[in-house]
Amino acid sequence: MASNAVDAAHTGTSANTGTSANTGTSANTGTGAGASTGIRTKVKQQLARAAGRVPGEGATVLIYHRIGGGTADELDLSTADFTAQADLLAELPPGRVVSLDTATDRLDAGLRTPSTVLTFDDGFADTYDTAWPILRERSLPFTVYLASGMVGGPMSWEGSTAKGAPAVGIGWEQLREMAASGLCTVANHTRSHARPALLTTGELDACGDDVEEHLGTRPRHFAYTWGTPVPHMETALRARFRTSATGQVGRNLPGGDPVRLYRVPVRRTDPIDFFRAKLYGRLIPERAYARIVATAKAVGARA
Ligand SMILES: [Zn+2]
Repeated sequence: MASNAVDAAHTGTSANTGTSANTGTSANTGTGAGASTGIRTKVKQQLARAAGRVPGEGATVLIYHRIGGGTADELDLSTADFTAQADLLAELPPGRVVSLDTATDRLDAGLRTPSTVLTFDDGFADTYDTAWPILRERSLPFTVYLASGMVGGPMSWEGSTAKGAPAVGIGWEQLREMAASGLCTVANHTRSHARPALLTTGELDACGDDVEEHLGTRPRHFAYTWGTPVPHMETALRARFRTSATGQVGRNLPGGDPVRLYRVPVRRTDPIDFFRAKLYGRLIPERAYARIVATAKAVGARA
């Protein structure tokens, strides 16, 4: 249900063909996008008022895809908006924004310490070109879930409805630079961005081999493509990774299942107050928004 809500929230935006929370290459040709964007922003501004003032307990894992990619896709944030979010994160108390490993260490130790983790799915070139200088300047740790087969090439896979300018993958040299800084964790997102029904150990290991060959270490974390859990693969995932991240909305607390890590999406039409609300309380605005969009989609409206 929660993952459907993520999908619905994304597909509501546009000309996206829409089976995924993760289409990435942005097919958003966007007829009427302006009007619906305005409505979404207003709804979120009102919902943001329902956020608490107490930081959410446990690990809040934020999902990004593209920054400054120049498309109208909900998964492609403007550089200005991302900079404002990074400024907000950099002003949090020390120890609040941490690496995925540190957040996992805290959960393993039974700690409910508020921890924010930034994650970037797929490995778009703009993760390096746009996001990296902003993150580096503020010393913000982050994770890149890499589809290793797209490195240095076109970002293209089933469901990545690329109609406009083709998106390009990040390069190995750029990944090496980010990893060497100690701020970037490179994680596994399969080699070919295989859809959930086609997830195999071969896909997992091919990505692991690619990363090990070029960066010298094997990824210890994984994110499901489309954010969709694949129950029959959980044994294989547990054997290979500390965590496997879904697109299901929630925070992670001690005792949670590391093979089903919850995450919280960040979207283009999130006003800064709505972004802030993702870090506080019980994610009430986020869940309410997901319900609104899912309902709108169910009745055939564009939210
Ligand atoms: Zn993906």
